[in-house]
Amino acid sequence: MKYVDEFRQHKLAKQLAAAIRDEVDTGRSYHLMEFCGGHTHAIFRYGVQDLMPGNVRFIHGPGCPVCVLPVGRIDNAIHLVEAEDVILCTYGDLLRVPASGRNSLIKVKAAGGDVRMVYSTQDALNIARENPARQVVFLAIGFETTTPPSAVALQQARREGLKNFSLFCNHVLTPAAIQNILESPEVREIGSVAIHGFFGPSHVSSVIGSRPYEFFAEEFQRPVVIAGFEPLDVMQSVLMLIRQLNQGRYEVENEYTRVVTREGNQKAQRLVAEVFELRRSFEWRGLGLVPYSALKIKADYQEYDAEQRFQIPVSPAKEVKGCECPAILRGAKRPTDCKLFGVVCTPDNPMGSCMVSSEGACAAYWSYGRFRQPEAKSA
Ligand code: SF4
Repeated sequence: MKYVDEFRQHKLAKQLAAAIRDEVDTGRSYHLMEFCGGHTHAIFRYGVQDLMPGNVRFIHGPGCPVCVLPVGRIDNAIHLVEAEDVILCTYGDLLRVPASGRNSLIKVKAAGGDVRMVYSTQDALNIARENPARQVVFLAIGFETTTPPSAVALQQARREGLKNFSLFCNHVLTPAAIQNILESPEVREIGSVAIHGFFGPSHVSSVIGSRPYEFFAEEFQRPVVIAGFEPLDVMQSVLMLIRQLNQGRYEVENEYTRVVTREGNQKAQRLVAEVFELRRSFEWRGLGLVPYSALKIKADYQEYDAEQRFQIPVSPAKEVKGCECPAILRGAKRPTDCKLFGVVCTPDNPMGSCMVSSEGACAAYWSYGRFRQPEAKSA
């Protein structure tokens, strides 16, 4: 398949692994954060870590939209179903994420709540058209990749005069999260988490372009390489990051040139700007309150804003005791550092969001069984 098979070639992977081995300085370490869960899964699925020298380590970041949604927002969604009797539509991964008191949307559905799994905002709009007497809420999550379809849905709802459709907006922004990690005490002051460079997310960057990363590459002196999701993309990006670090450069480079440009998809950016604006602050699981890191619906579209329509409160909620998702999402711990990993927490019985989501780091460790192998030795 074009753009897939050619980026999975075994022979090229071996050549890239050799080039990386030649390039590394054995006297230092390279801790590279893959922001996006798609990269985490590519690394584990294809065994990319096994091809790396011992001093090249991948640190998993918070780029899984399901994983970073705080418990309180899922509690809010459950409240909409149980107290407001809405039809709640959302993507499948979210259904099993634990809410407060070991509850979840799938348990609410099993108890008779009207929770529906959809594949797109268009499915949710169709449900609203078919149920004019019921309020339909789309629980919208995701980074810059999923925001344009949400904007389109609200514009369609307005054009059609749909009065029973609204959106519970939980869209978050990638550059603000990366900046927050770089400013965190663990990275800056304590130094317990060393992050030397970043893989920029591929799908997100296809929308926002590579330009938004330029500020913090320079400000925090960390190189960024926008990387595709195939194993050779990841390995080529490792090589590019190592070269930058060896040469003392802190630039934004683009490995994923078949999709990403510096300016990104300007039509999608305009659409988003018409419907959404920045929130002053938003709570991320793992990162806490992060200023200007999420979007809210503009006043002009407030009749389609579920937060306004149902007066949804801010609900602080506690994580499951013992779950290390917050530290894992900050890159401070690995899934195997969690005492619950594989003991009481598995994909069949997830205790935290990182085990639920197909992009979560705990799910990646478990699904591909890499945790059973000895850790690579540090240089
Ligand atoms: S293994 Fe389960 S409980 Fe532990 S951090 Fe991951 S999701 Fe949370």
